[in-house]
Order: sequence, then C-alpha cells, then structure tokens
Amino acid sequence: SGDLRFEDVHFAYVPERPILRGVTFEVPSGKTVAIVGPSGAGKSTLSRLLFRFYEPQSGRITIDGQDIADVTQKSLRAAIGMVPQDTVLFNDTIGYNVRYGRWEASEEEVHKAAALAQIDVFIKSLPEGYETSVGERGLKLSGGEKQRVAIARTILKGPPILVLDEATSALDSFTEKDIQDALERISRGRTTLVIAHRLSTVINADEIIVLDKGVIAERGPHAELLARD
Ligand code: ADP
Ligand code: ADP
Repeated sequence: SGDLRFEDVHFAYVPERPILRGVTFEVPSGKTVAIVGPSGAGKSTLSRLLFRFYEPQSGRITIDGQDIADVTQKSLRAAIGMVPQDTVLFNDTIGYNVRYGRWEASEEEVHKAAALAQIDVFIKSLPEGYETSVGERGLKLSGGEKQRVAIARTILKGPPILVLDEATSALDSFTEKDIQDALERISRGRTTLVIAHRLSTVINADEIIVLDKGVIAERGPHAELLARD
C-alpha cells in the first residue's frame, strides 16, 4: 500500500499566476521518485498540496486510489511522514520531539527509534535556547543532529509514505552524505517522494522527474538523467 498519484494537477496561489500546469506522475508503492528542478518550479507546492495545505484547482491526488480530498487530516498525517529542510524542535526533551505525533509509543519504542537515528545519547536533553526549571541549559544540536531527530520521529511513526523536501540542503557536504545514508535506509520499502534542486543530491531514485515552470520537462531513470546533468 501507499501508491501515490498526482493526476493532471493544476494549481495557482493567485488566479493570474499558475504554478502547476497539469502535473501527472505516480510513485508506485514502495518506490522512490525524485522531483528536481530550479527554484520556483513548484516542487514544494506539490508537498503542500499533498498535506492539503491547499487544494488543487483541478485534477486530483490519490493514495491507493482514494482522492486525498476525501481523507481526514488525521489519517492523511498518519499516512505521510515528512523530513523537511530544517527541523524546528519543540521546547521539550529530544525524546518528546521524537515521540511527537505518536504519543502512545512506549519508552522502549522511542529509545529504539532514537538509537537507529543515532541520537539516543541526547534523548533526555532539551534543545538549545531552552532550560529546565532548575536552570539546566539546552544542548546545541548541529543541523545534522536535528535532521536525525526528524528521522527518529519518522522511524517511530512508520508511515507508508515519506516526503523528503530538500532534507539535506541545509547541511555541509560531509554531513549531507551521512544524513542521505540514513534517509535512504528509512525510505527503503516506503513510497518516497524526494524533492531536491540538484540531481546530484538525490538518493537512489527509481525515477527522476524534472519540473520546470509547473510542467514536467523531462523524466527518466536516475542514471540516464545524471549522465546528462
Ligand atoms: P520550489 O519548491 O520549486 O522552489 P515552490 O513550490 O516553493 O517552488 O514555489 C513555486 C512558486 O510559487 C514560486 O514562484 C513562489 O514564489 C510561489 N509561491 C509559493 N508560495 C506562495 C504563496 N503562499 N503565495 C503566492 N505564491 C507562492
Ligand atoms: P501533526 O501532529 O500536526 O498532524 P505530524 O507530525 O503527524 O503533525 O505530521 C505533519 C507533518 O507535516 C509535520 O512533520 C510537519 O513538519 C509537516 N509539514 C509542515 N510543513 C509542511 C510543508 N510545507 N509541506 C509538507 N509538510 C509539512
């Protein structure tokens, strides 16, 4: 399960300026598709529509054949996990941040997810800028460590669909490689939509779609497009 489709999706934030002009693609269950393209192409708009922050003017988005317009926000959120460009941490422990959205998870499950994401040593700490009632200061986590918190949260949540929206773009190239490996592990067997502005930063994708000015300009297997990049 987790087959995701965009079918002839048209969208404009303001009527006189179309952003998506008939976008059709499928992320088959368990596969990875990457959307690449220049800044302003409409890539993040796709994920905003998927989370129903906005509705398409025409066309539809389906998960396992069901129009997401007919799915409750709650089940949509349960079905899709997201690792954003920058992870903003809440004013509570790293463990709380991992548990966020899956409150019923046991201590053991939280620990296991944190260990897989390699942040279990931080689990009782607060993020930077916060302090406990007894004056204990929060930890300054690096960009990569914050992405690991988002990764642990996703591992715990275990959604069938994963959206990686420029998930490594804020990192230095050494950390980027490290986080890419972790993302690749969690995307395995999950329907994954990767959003990136450079093809070279895309993890192993089954298909690459080049979006330009709201239309699909090119599509094909990873290696084929990379050879022409
Ligand atoms: P990308 O992710 O490919 O860089 P986006 O999907 O973020 O592109 O944005 C596509 C276009 O939509 C951009 O020109 C952007 O300025 C515009 N845009 C994004 N959000 C809004 C908004 N809330 N209102 C109006 N225009 C927007
Ligand atoms: P909630 O408890 O609000 O339902 P979840 O953690 O279950 O939150 O899932 C909602 C996810 O949507 C969050 O991880 C959040 O970061 C993500 N999200 C926030 N902004 C965007 C965006 N622009 N596009 C896609 N997803 C987003």
